[in-house]
Amino acid sequence: MSLPEGVERRTFDLGESGSETRLATRGEPVYGEPTDDGWRLWDARRSKLGATFEKGLDTGLTGGETVLYLGAASGTTVSHVADFAGPTYAVEFAARPARDLLAVTDSRPTLFPLLKDARAPETYAHVVEPVDAIVQDVATRGQARVANANRQFLREGGRLLAAVKARSEDVTADPERVFERFLDDLSGYEVVETARLEPFHDDHLAVVARRV
Ligand code: SAM
Repeated sequence: MSLPEGVERRTFDLGESGSETRLATRGEPVYGEPTDDGWRLWDARRSKLGATFEKGLDTGLTGGETVLYLGAASGTTVSHVADFAGPTYAVEFAARPARDLLAVTDSRPTLFPLLKDARAPETYAHVVEPVDAIVQDVATRGQARVANANRQFLREGGRLLAAVKARSEDVTADPERVFERFLDDLSGYEVVETARLEPFHDDHLAVVARRV
């Protein structure tokens, strides 16, 4: 597994817990993460995409690509994505986190926040250009439906990098059944690789899929 250009493993001094080698991107800090010489620690416990890299999945990201990010929240992960990617469209439908997301864009001129519902891509289709990758972390019911609805933005061969949260679909079901259902319901994608995100995130599945 190779990391995109602009993502590195760097050693951070974490005070009493000593120094640790962790993922990092270059940019303004966003959530109080440790920094070193312009690099900011990318905490896999706070980021499903960070955990996806830590688990060694082949995301296909090389750096500089155009990204559509679904479920941006207050910008923790999408800020790291914007540090190494090209134009990054960040969709979030909740107003409160979207306000914080706006602050993240101040130092990131290629990060475009969209206060929109990812289940209604027609409301932002006039803004978003064709993208090389979709990163999805919506933690809501109907996660496959969201991926399918946004497939239209993905260039052929482009990648979907989804973090599927089992409990968002069904709190009582066996997570493995929920993940199977998500993969069955994906349409127009070929699944490349999957992995559970423990120990970073419980009951989440990382899915790498290619648009066909
Ligand atoms: N990806 C974020 C990160 O790592 O920094 C965390 C995302 S949080 C787990 C899920 C987010 O998806 C929430 O902020 C929620 O409001 C948003 N969300 C859920 N359903 C959505 C939808 N249909 N459209 C847009 N955002 C949605």
